[in-house]
Amino acid sequence: MVTKCLLILLAIFLSCVYVSGFPKKVIIAGLFDEDEGFQTMFESSVRVINKERHENEELSNVFLGPEAIQVETDLFEISLKVCELVKTGIVGIFGPQKKVTAEYVQSICDTMEVPHISVRQDSSESFQSRGLSLNFYPHVSSLSQIYYQLVIDLKWKNFAILYENTDSLIRMRLLLKRSDPHGNSAFMYHLGDGPNYRTLINCIAWHRILCRQAMQEIKTSDIENIIIDCSSDILNDVLKQAQQVGILSEKHKVIVTSLDLQTLDLEPYQYSGVNFTGLRLIDPEDPIVSQTFNKHKNEWGLDDPSQLQVEPALMYDAVQLFARAFKQLKDAIKGDVKELPCDGSVRWEHGLSLSNFMRSTETQGLTGLVKFDRDGFRSNIQLDIVHLTENGLKKIGVWNSTNGKNIDWLPDTKKSDVELNLQNRTFIVLISLTAPYGYEKESWTTLTGNDRYEGFAVDLIDSISQISKFNYTLQVEKDYGSYNNRTKKWSGMLGKIINDEADFAITDLTITEERQKAVDFTNPFMNLGISILYRKAGKQSPSLFSFLSPFSNEVWSYLIGVYIIVSLLFFVMGRLCPAEWNNPYPCIEEPEELDNQFTFKNAFWFAIGAIMQQGSEIAPIGISTRMMASLWWFFCLIMVSSYTANLAAFLTVETPVQAFDNVEELAKQKHIKYGAKDGGATLKFFEHSDHSTYKDMFEFMKANKDDVLPKENDIGVNKVKTENYAFLMESSSIEYITERECKVAKVGGLLDEKGYGIAMKKDSPHRPKFNAALLKLSESGGIADLQKKWWKEKRGGGKCKDDGGSNSAEELGVAHVGGVFLVLTVGVALSCIYTIFELLWDVAQTSIQENVPFKEELINELKFIIKFSGSKSTRRRNGASSKSEENSTRGCTPPYGFIPTVITTSPTDDK
Ligand code: GLU
Repeated sequence: MVTKCLLILLAIFLSCVYVSGFPKKVIIAGLFDEDEGFQTMFESSVRVINKERHENEELSNVFLGPEAIQVETDLFEISLKVCELVKTGIVGIFGPQKKVTAEYVQSICDTMEVPHISVRQDSSESFQSRGLSLNFYPHVSSLSQIYYQLVIDLKWKNFAILYENTDSLIRMRLLLKRSDPHGNSAFMYHLGDGPNYRTLINCIAWHRILCRQAMQEIKTSDIENIIIDCSSDILNDVLKQAQQVGILSEKHKVIVTSLDLQTLDLEPYQYSGVNFTGLRLIDPEDPIVSQTFNKHKNEWGLDDPSQLQVEPALMYDAVQLFARAFKQLKDAIKGDVKELPCDGSVRWEHGLSLSNFMRSTETQGLTGLVKFDRDGFRSNIQLDIVHLTENGLKKIGVWNSTNGKNIDWLPDTKKSDVELNLQNRTFIVLISLTAPYGYEKESWTTLTGNDRYEGFAVDLIDSISQISKFNYTLQVEKDYGSYNNRTKKWSGMLGKIINDEADFAITDLTITEERQKAVDFTNPFMNLGISILYRKAGKQSPSLFSFLSPFSNEVWSYLIGVYIIVSLLFFVMGRLCPAEWNNPYPCIEEPEELDNQFTFKNAFWFAIGAIMQQGSEIAPIGISTRMMASLWWFFCLIMVSSYTANLAAFLTVETPVQAFDNVEELAKQKHIKYGAKDGGATLKFFEHSDHSTYKDMFEFMKANKDDVLPKENDIGVNKVKTENYAFLMESSSIEYITERECKVAKVGGLLDEKGYGIAMKKDSPHRPKFNAALLKLSESGGIADLQKKWWKEKRGGGKCKDDGGSNSAEELGVAHVGGVFLVLTVGVALSCIYTIFELLWDVAQTSIQENVPFKEELINELKFIIKFSGSKSTRRRNGASSKSEENSTRGCTPPYGFIPTVITTSPTDDK
């Protein structure tokens, strides 16, 4: 048995050897001088070929041995490596990437007639492929053609070319040749050597081309069309800096020539409004690309086929094509590999055939159809024209080098042009009969069509249709739409839009994240937030101590404090002030004692008398005490007037009492039920909220679903009026209700911020037109007018205008009366200073008259003053002692400055 098997294997082996003549495994070499991507691609491709050679007819019996060699730029070293390789007998050399080394390797290969394959962008203009060499990169003449065609199709007359090196001039050859009688002009700007590409380094003059400064100058000029032609290595930096300079703005149109545009992160430019057009050779959506990518995903370390760079992908395709060509060579001739000396004396006789087979073979690869023309250049190249949208790059056209004059703009793009034109088209617009957005018209006659409806949404769509000149048919749909997790479908308005049963939906349709994933919304035409609708607060029964209400507790305590301080000051200043010491017996010029009216009790009595507006018999005599008394009276006047005025307000206004003031209080209490519209955005807000209170509230609503979640806003409002129920609804609807239902009111602030938008199909081309119309309406005040009409005027608006109950009295705080306290404090301080001055003056005078030292007199005086017990002074004071000898009424001055008339009477007078 074993011998039998061995014999069969031997027969197979011998037949293979004799049929093809080539060894079973042939060596192909890859020279790599750049990043590892090329080598990985080279090896992956070889691995796949070797694996598939048993199943794939095109590759049968092709067994490749990959020899990957890293090379530097040293040409001598490269020549040694190539010599070593050819000595071992190889069938082809791939790479390297650098221009100089690649050309050097190519010339060695040409001498020995070993096929050389390169995948680099070569801008040499030769119109025939050199020797046995094949370049898989689209030829510069093809690229030049597509750039030219793009500019023609986009109708660019003037444009700037931001270029990296002179190779660009070859690529832009056709564009630059564009004759000028039609006023076409190209402005060339050299990007410079980087890394700063914002400023000019140097620029070259070209026939009929102006040579100017770089990005900065493009910005200041009125050139709006820009072609950016640079390698993918610097493209990211160039785009970033162009954006910084401001030449990637809304007014600019940009063509990026690099076929690697899609590998960059373009998010920073997606929303800048720049009109960004690019080209790609690899279509990530192509099934071959995705299949190949999925096979090698892990080896390549990429997440997405759009990250595939063109040159490494070409390397992959080149190996594939080479293997197929080699299979044909093997089938055709009984050849063999040859060990070649490096002196060029021997050639590989099958090299040319292999090269010819490569030119005549074709395969579908990562870069589309890989095929060569007679001249040895890629033919049938298909490039996708891509446009940067808010959702990333979108294919808008296809160009094929075989009919190079035309770009096939995708029917979609054409269609969108048609669609963008809204004029004279008729759309189905969904509305709901939710007040005030949509009502059925009340009429005696039978109405038909759109005439049957009125309301804010109906007026709004009508205004938009007049601006954009389209027709519409209104359709009523009750359900706004919700997503069914089981069927994976949307219901209601949103479902109809998704299924193309309607074009737009306009009502109080809240823009939510979930909805926005399914449909597109215009910019919000109304802003709102969630709030609470609850029945109006009841009136508070008057309190027993409502007389205290006019002032806040703080003011009352300050008032008491000030009263005590001022009374004490009257007492102290009364003692300090010399003028307050009076002769109790005006007829005795030299009294033994002096009297002071500001006793402790009198001081308090005097101060309270002023507050109570009653006065007292005590009247200050000294300047300082009078000063302080005046300020105190002024203070009392203001305080009493304020109190009286505010008390009047408190007695006339009954302050309403709310059962709760905000959503937290509502959530905490147990006896008021609350809910929101079932399936509405408000309920969704509570469902998706991370806030613990809102979560609890949602749990409550879910648990009491049948009782608290009405299907319509009207039902909810009715519940508020008839039950102990709070309805969570959108502020705009609350405003509408409270204009008409005077028994209900909005409680608390807004829980969130959102808006209503007009819904339409995802990626709808009409969105910008609708947004523009909405903006126009909003700027002209149209939306505000409609709001006023449907909220405040029509259908019972303005009913609850005077019943707002918002006039409530507020207690006066320190902020209201603080100024009076301040005036009093300053005045009292001045009076104290003046009293001290008066005292010192009096003591000085006494000390001179009595010939007592000032200090001794002052100490005596102060000692007496500090003795708070008495109000009678036994000390002799100024004026009293000096006239001690005269015991008569002459010169006697009673306390109030008038001389009483002394009437002498006798018993005989009565007769
Ligand atoms: N505007 C809400 C929506 O679009 C309906 C009302 C509400 O949930 O409060 O679903």
